[in-house]
Amino acid sequence: MSSPIWHPFTQHGLGEPIPLVARAEGALLHTADGRAVIDAISSWWVTTHGHCHPRIMAAIAEQAQRLDQLIFAGWTHEPAEALARGLRALMPEALTRVFFSDSGSTSVEVALKMALGYWAARGEARHRIVVMAHSYHGDTIGAMSVGARGVFNQTYEPLLFDVARIPFPFKEGEQETLDALEVFCAEPDTAALIVEPLVLGAGGMLVYPPRVLAEMRAICARNGVLFIADEVMTGWGRTGTLLACEQAGVVPDILCLSKGLTGGALPLAVTMASEPVFQAHWSQDRARMFFHSSSYTANPIACAAANANLAIWREEPVLERIATLAGRQRACLDKLGRYAHFDHPRQIGTIVALDLHGDGGYLDTLAPRLMAFFAERGVLLRPLGNTVYVMPPYCVTEAQLDEVYAAIGEAVITF
Ligand SMILES: *Cc1c(COP(=O)(O)O)cnc(C)c1O
Repeated sequence: MSSPIWHPFTQHGLGEPIPLVARAEGALLHTADGRAVIDAISSWWVTTHGHCHPRIMAAIAEQAQRLDQLIFAGWTHEPAEALARGLRALMPEALTRVFFSDSGSTSVEVALKMALGYWAARGEARHRIVVMAHSYHGDTIGAMSVGARGVFNQTYEPLLFDVARIPFPFKEGEQETLDALEVFCAEPDTAALIVEPLVLGAGGMLVYPPRVLAEMRAICARNGVLFIADEVMTGWGRTGTLLACEQAGVVPDILCLSKGLTGGALPLAVTMASEPVFQAHWSQDRARMFFHSSSYTANPIACAAANANLAIWREEPVLERIATLAGRQRACLDKLGRYAHFDHPRQIGTIVALDLHGDGGYLDTLAPRLMAFFAERGVLLRPLGNTVYVMPPYCVTEAQLDEVYAAIGEAVITF
């Protein structure tokens, strides 16, 4: 009998193969039929240090013996307390409050609700959210509303709320982006800007410079508009620093973190807020509390995994590993460029992307054909349209990277 599973972002009518994975270690996935596959996209951008990291697995096993789950409204537990303290110590000082949830999308919903709550508490009717073209913030209705519109969400379009869009700051277009933001920020109903700092992930690994991010932050600050950084993908070292915002010297009013928060082992997210955002909800009036919770808010086992991740960041030379990986990625891309032709090679930290010639809209058959091509060569890559990108776990070896780039080189010549 065929599997009853309805997979995400999968057209079951095409009958494409769905490999069964039995175990994973480091950068390798081992399939049930005995193949080893290099996970060159970190299982959709979540696995940072590597699969089944011993410290994180041990923390999970240990916590699972003590406390599995706890209502978090009015109750608390040490793994969450330790994690909140750890995040406060590791993240920018101005982000004083930690709100837990369970996915990147939810952390974005929480951020948007916090921003609206902030303005409601101040008695100002500000509801407009400013967003950047090509952004992705998740697949729930609110997160889709602030993301790019397209084939992914046109079915739900009537339910998505209206936002103000600024263009992506392509070279030559940076001033246009900033001018558009300036105009929207001056509107009396603008509540917040939400951005993916330095690189738009699902939008095609589009990279823009730190000075634009710094300018955007300054424009928001000048106009009193809240600045929300969605670091769900960029956080935890992906761009070469713990947070991408660091490279622009900016601190957001609200910060979304998920994917690498547990090292990629368990679902968990946080939305960190500045003191003014928290204080806007602080009152003796129950009607002004922050009305949000998920059943698994701050799940103790997920928090234990995140605490192990934080310990790894504190005690191990993670940034050095990332710098080494970034250097190897650069060398691989340079070498590839010498014998293959493609457009827009780009890199930010551990992420490398390039565009193949040709159309490559999401519904084009190029991406799935490429995926199958890479899979045959023992490499998990999932191109975005005609954009091939490599975002491996930090433990990927030089030999594994060489294999990944050899496959990409072949693909560039073949397609
Ligand atoms: C993946 C992603 C999200 C959504 O996270 P989920 O855990 O998949 O809900 C939100 N924002 C960005 C920038 C992402 O890359």
